[in-house]
Amino acid sequence: MSLDAGFTCPHRLPDGTGGCIYCSPRGSGDCAGDSLLPLPEQFQQIKARMQKKWPNVQKYIAYFQAYTGTFGAVDKLEPFYRTALAQPGVVGLSVATRPDCLSDEVVDLLKALDNETMLWVELGLQSAHDCTLQRINRGHDYQCFVDAVHRLHSAGIKVCAHIILGLPGEDRPMMLATARAVAGLGIQGIKIHALHVVKHTQLATMWQRGDIELLAREEYAQLTVDVLEILPPETVVHRLTGDAPRDILLAPSWITNKWQVLQAIDDLLEAKNTWQGRSSAVPGNQGEC
Ligand code: SF4
Repeated sequence: MSLDAGFTCPHRLPDGTGGCIYCSPRGSGDCAGDSLLPLPEQFQQIKARMQKKWPNVQKYIAYFQAYTGTFGAVDKLEPFYRTALAQPGVVGLSVATRPDCLSDEVVDLLKALDNETMLWVELGLQSAHDCTLQRINRGHDYQCFVDAVHRLHSAGIKVCAHIILGLPGEDRPMMLATARAVAGLGIQGIKIHALHVVKHTQLATMWQRGDIELLAREEYAQLTVDVLEILPPETVVHRLTGDAPRDILLAPSWITNKWQVLQAIDDLLEAKNTWQGRSSAVPGNQGEC
């Protein structure tokens, strides 16, 4: 249940510009609820939508996806988290954030919540290469991500890393180095995305100028299979492909058909007779640029 509590992002300017080059005006929470509505109303709306697709689903994870889910004082954040947890059927909480936005007080709060519910902290990494992180204007380096993972793990909190395949300037060895780096950190979960271009982003300007190339579906499926082979078998794959609402997506159009992407990945796994964890024994470090 992707909710929008109206958070903002410390990496964007007060007027909403700046930030990561691919980030939409809604802080990459374009499928989340309406931030103008109270969380319980958002929850009911999304639940009604989901029940049309999956009528038998009774349990939910409340997901703070939009912007930076830990950006705020603890006394402001806690009521949002607790309101989400109090909704009927919610059995867990997932908070997406930046690795440089985790104060000690916030980690203490998350640790307390982790003792009460199933908690995931989703940390944006995107690439383990500092040159790429600069190119996409992430505003932090790989070491910052590693430090955040260690602090969350010390608090006993599960981490789900977000990575993007097809970032500008990256080739296959660089993307697989990112997968090895994530695998070597003992992270519990991962979300894998194809780079895609949405309106009103710096990436859109680059794409319109012809400065970037995007992956074809077959390339993405192949790279995803390669990443899966590297990840330890116990890493929970939360997402194999992401998408964006059609009215803001510029390219590639293939990401809107998730089932075809998933089928392409499935077909390749079968054709190669391979599986997640097949070559996970070699841990990796920070990628080289
Ligand atoms: S950290 Fe998240 S919300 Fe902030 S600019 Fe980057 S993608 Fe957008």
